[in-house]
Amino acid sequence: MLSQDVSDLEGRDYYIDTHAHLDMIKEKTPQEAVQEAERERVRIILNIGAHLEASHQAVEMAQSFPNVFATMGVHPHDARFLTRKAVEEMRKLCKSPKVVAVGETGLDYFRNLSTPEEQRQAFIWQIELARELELPLVVHDRDAHKDIKGILKSEEVKRGVLHCFSADEAMIDFCLEQGLHISITGNITFKNAQRLRGMVKKIPLDILMLETDCPFLAPHPFRGQENYPKYIPLIARAVAEAKGVSEDEVMRQTTENAFQLFGFTA
Ligand SMILES: [Zn+2]
Repeated sequence: MLSQDVSDLEGRDYYIDTHAHLDMIKEKTPQEAVQEAERERVRIILNIGAHLEASHQAVEMAQSFPNVFATMGVHPHDARFLTRKAVEEMRKLCKSPKVVAVGETGLDYFRNLSTPEEQRQAFIWQIELARELELPLVVHDRDAHKDIKGILKSEEVKRGVLHCFSADEAMIDFCLEQGLHISITGNITFKNAQRLRGMVKKIPLDILMLETDCPFLAPHPFRGQENYPKYIPLIARAVAEAKGVSEDEVMRQTTENAFQLFGFTA
């Protein structure tokens, strides 16, 4: 049960940033980022834990801002630091109020900062944790589509989101079969992102969510600068254009989807 009163958040007439790293923003305080987002109708921010220390901070931030929630995870880059003892610590943290998911976890074979072996082990431990705690999973996949699909399938992961979608039609089909959500970042606004816009056109709106992945991946025309949750409407506009629907429809449906997956009202 969450302690937050979200009764003023009914109606779905606002945006949710489903993937932000408020702890990594440098040019503003988290408070400024949250307030500016609110002015752009981005009223819920899911602050993603990418390593244990960040996860601790995410829990603290969720406690200080009513509309910020947290996830608990160790990114594939840091997989080598995830020990069984650290998983125990995660299990405890996951029970804090306002923790709504496990992740981000997954595989990143582009940078390989941890070995593929270490990444797969950390991924599986976090899948087990999510299953045990009945929480959805936030999945990072970079250049690892085959192994991501293999592990999600064999582990029967049915509740989660593939974040920063960058894959192909086969991955869309896979997510639909498994019942997984897909979230879209600011890279959909980039001038050279025609292929991604074509893919988004094929993803049913009822499994889509929006995310900034801030401070990374600022949308056009802020590409290359620090990114903030307040830019979500720019991503919504690009999704609306790609799918030929209104921005309002994208807003309401992606917000509803995020509520269904993360259960902010639980
Ligand atoms: Zn992230």
